[in-house]
Amino acid sequence: METGERSIFSRIIAGEIPADVVFDSERIIAFRDIAPKAPVHLLVVPKTERYRDVVELAAGDPDLLAELVATAKQLADEHADGDFRLVFNTGAGAGQTVFHVHAHILGSPAGGLEEG
Ligand code: AMP
Repeated sequence: METGERSIFSRIIAGEIPADVVFDSERIIAFRDIAPKAPVHLLVVPKTERYRDVVELAAGDPDLLAELVATAKQLADEHADGDFRLVFNTGAGAGQTVFHVHAHILGSPAGGLEEG
């Protein structure tokens, strides 16, 4: 956990480290995952540092969560075939490694995303 430190995503948002950015708005940024687990693997990240995970985001700013989901759909239409898996790892035991809320978009340009 990164208590007292800025997350790697905050550093990407600040432009301090590079990322392959595919979307950038007032409140949300999206970029390609550095270790893709699907033909299309994007991360959609609220710019605020306030929320560690989707549970906190849903309680604290449901409008921002809705905006994140709508952005995910837009990106799945642009980069995949419109169908996508939206994953929020929540807690270290579930595999969350970056404690700055983010959604994984997993998809494929040609469809046929594998089960799992
Ligand atoms: P999670 O396990 O849900 O916390 O997801 C964190 C994700 O961030 C992982 O899939 C990593 O591959 C990804 N990641 C870590 N550092 C970077 C980076 N600098 N640029 C892009 N993706 C990253």
